[in-house]
Amino acid sequence: MRKISLLGASGSIGIQTIEVLRQHSDQFQLLAFSVGGNIKVAQELIQEFSPHVVSVQSKEDCETLKSQFASTDTRFVYGEEGLIEVATLKEVDVLVNAVMGSVGLVPTLHAIENKKVIALANKETLVTAGHIVMEAARKHQVPILPVDSEHSAIYQCLQGEKEKNIETIILTASGGSFRDRTRQQLEGVTREDALNHPNWSMGAKITIDSATMMNKGLEVIEAHWLFDIPYEDIQVVLHRESVIHSMVEFHDTSIIAQLGTPDMRVPIQYALTYPDRLPHPTGKRLNFMEMGKLHFEKMDFDRFRCLQYAFDAGKAGGTMPTVLNAANEIAVEAFLNGRIEFLTIETFIEKAMSRHSNQLNPDLQTIREVDLETRNYVRSLID
Ligand code: NDP
Ligand code: MG
Repeated sequence: MRKISLLGASGSIGIQTIEVLRQHSDQFQLLAFSVGGNIKVAQELIQEFSPHVVSVQSKEDCETLKSQFASTDTRFVYGEEGLIEVATLKEVDVLVNAVMGSVGLVPTLHAIENKKVIALANKETLVTAGHIVMEAARKHQVPILPVDSEHSAIYQCLQGEKEKNIETIILTASGGSFRDRTRQQLEGVTREDALNHPNWSMGAKITIDSATMMNKGLEVIEAHWLFDIPYEDIQVVLHRESVIHSMVEFHDTSIIAQLGTPDMRVPIQYALTYPDRLPHPTGKRLNFMEMGKLHFEKMDFDRFRCLQYAFDAGKAGGTMPTVLNAANEIAVEAFLNGRIEFLTIETFIEKAMSRHSNQLNPDLQTIREVDLETRNYVRSLID
């Protein structure tokens, strides 16, 4: 039995992780989890899994659950301290980090120090502080297993391969909800238009990130840290079918790709069972005859400016990726709340980056300060 703790159990990845745990209940035991404000999901999961520890975002929700489940042995905690407790519970083997945003950083670092295997969906953690996370993982000899489908694909393509033989990493991008629109046609698009992703059903923030192409930008930085690849050797290709989840090209020009149905339970499961594999939850397979053709197009960096900003921030290094990420989190939230236009997301990111004086090799404290300062700056732009 692998003992699991799960951050972000009420989210899109969290719920699909729970499905995988249910499907293979003889292999996994859920010992701890967190939700943000979704208490209903927490209540259901407590009844089903009788976890040791549950964390929620607010003190009030924590008190509510404590009194509701007073007769159980479950311990209730809240806030960042709560996330850390879930991430570091002594009995746990694997932490699945599926929270949204850089709030996942500190709990991940604590989990690494406590020698938990990390199954990482929370890409913002690597974007904001990749050098600190990867250094901690090396120091404590903890594997970071990617859940993000592109990175899971690359991880699979690299099995048995030597890092020194990699020529290029080729990330595929579906193009998001607006892939066929010109910049002009992006003016005035609504929240609902943006939330309508053609291939994947995901949380709201990442669906907007896919529409702005920031998601691919964050994934470029994520790939740089996970696989220790220079930005010059990372390519992005528009591939609208989302069948090839990513590829690795080697010096001898061979390319290895990983293909599959667009179903996040596959990479979640792979991260939980690596290097083993379990049967697919639904058994639905790729059918090449039905598929017929696959398409590939060049990325337009002017049309998708956020992708360019992410490459710029990644190459600049230091605190710049923290600024990119924090500005994006606040701008996307404002777009989702109807406070700014779609194209203003990239305007605010560009503003935040151009005013920032980059600090190289930042420690955790500096990253937290820059993150907070950027959030406040973008909030002031919104107001
Ligand atoms: P969701 O928005 O669906 O879920 C986010 C989860 O995080 C929820 O459980 C939410 O709690 C919790 N949460 C949000 N803010 C906080 C906070 N401040 N404190 C504590 N908990 C918080 O997101 P997704 O599942 O879509 O994505 C999660 C992560 O996985 C992101 O980093 C995303 O980029 C990445 N990812 C997602 C994919 C997908 O298919 N969805 C694919 C690849 C990567 P609550 O809802 O209870 O408030
Ligand atoms: Mg992805």
